[in-house]
Amino acid sequence: MFSSKEIKQLATKHPLLDKLIDTKEVFWQNPLYKNESFEGAEDLTMADITDAENRLKRFAPYLAKVFPETADTKGIIESPLREIPNMKVALEKSSDTVLEGRLLLKCDSHLPISGSIKARGGIYEILKHAEDLAVKEGLLSYTDDYSILASEKFKEFYSRHRIAVGSTGNLGLSIGIMSAKMGFKVYVHMSADARKWKKELLRSKGVNVIEYESDYSKAVEEGRKQSDKDPDSYFVDDENSKSLFLGYAVAPLRLQKQLDDLRIKVDENHPLFVYLPCGVGGGPGGVAFGLKLLYGANVHCFFAEPTHAPCMVLGMMTGLHNRISVQDIGIDNLTEADGLAVGTASGFVGKVMENMLSGIFTVDDEELYKYLAQLADEENIFIEPSAAAGFSGTRWLNGTPEGKNYIGSLNLREKMKDSTHIVWATGGSMVPPEIMKSYYERGAKS
Ligand SMILES: *Cc1c(COP(=O)(O)O)cnc(C)c1O
Repeated sequence: MFSSKEIKQLATKHPLLDKLIDTKEVFWQNPLYKNESFEGAEDLTMADITDAENRLKRFAPYLAKVFPETADTKGIIESPLREIPNMKVALEKSSDTVLEGRLLLKCDSHLPISGSIKARGGIYEILKHAEDLAVKEGLLSYTDDYSILASEKFKEFYSRHRIAVGSTGNLGLSIGIMSAKMGFKVYVHMSADARKWKKELLRSKGVNVIEYESDYSKAVEEGRKQSDKDPDSYFVDDENSKSLFLGYAVAPLRLQKQLDDLRIKVDENHPLFVYLPCGVGGGPGGVAFGLKLLYGANVHCFFAEPTHAPCMVLGMMTGLHNRISVQDIGIDNLTEADGLAVGTASGFVGKVMENMLSGIFTVDDEELYKYLAQLADEENIFIEPSAAAGFSGTRWLNGTPEGKNYIGSLNLREKMKDSTHIVWATGGSMVPPEIMKSYYERGAKS
């Protein structure tokens, strides 16, 4: 805990802190950002990402077999990248700002199997664990056709092992659905923010859901405690897992091909801006990490957080990472963006991002609903509130002194007309229609 004197000292050093405490929208430019190329960070390199990509390829025949919705892509879990010109016009109107460059949406909201960005990291980690177990037992070799994993023999094998995770909802969905499909006994510890339909969906698939009255950190702590008591249980550690992180980091390899297909250049004269909703940090951190390794100084990654759960900006700005929580500075961590309702950021991700992340901005909950309704009206794409957090990025960059300062500091002004902006939509396709309708109505009203 921090005394009020310590908080005051922090605020003197970091003037943005007072606005953060008042839950005002802020834009933080990372003073430690290095506009250069990167080989890696915290022992992770491109070789680790390609290793993850190859593992996903090994599993593709299995996934295509057990999840028919991935048959079209031959078992590769990927989402479309779509240009959203109507949304761009609507955003320009509603923000009274000219948005230079092209605007695209990365539709992880529509990833198969679990309908959110967690279908990258979460599923990858379960597959990796399943592979490790089966190879160690001598049941599987890396050159096998992994569709054999769908057989009763493997289901029986996995049923002797347990998996546990703490989640605000979507991680639980991805871990729960994947683990249950393979045959594992799976325990999902859900924080109070987790939506009822997510818990019901998991229970319908045979997942054990344990509910908590408190927030995400508590759900993780309890989940870890129970799992640690059991030698046959594997705990998915959202805050520190490198395997989860690498699952997310594969996305940019695929994105690069999608950009090429759309003939969109990313180079010294064609900067790419990417806006990523951030909870604990693994999802956006993994994606940003892969992007920086691929595109170096030509990509500019920003995280988006709710004004009531700005854990990553708090951790990175103060350099205290996971040693400070939003509750420590009097913020309630109550937000409609359930996927982002995290009070303490991952220290591991904060470290990796230290020189790679351009900045972080915060978004008011009501804005999320507005974007959600606009996107539905303009592009007929439906996403959940958390997933809409990236949309104010273009306004920050193009229409505010803070954004202009960033652009000016890197001499990007002349290049903005040739820039590309990707809003990473992180979830939504599994939201039940009547709940989606209520989200939409809330945003359309305002
Ligand atoms: C989990 C999640 C995020 C952020 O991922 P973290 O790894 O928690 O930072 C963003 N959007 C949605 C919809 C999510 O479920």
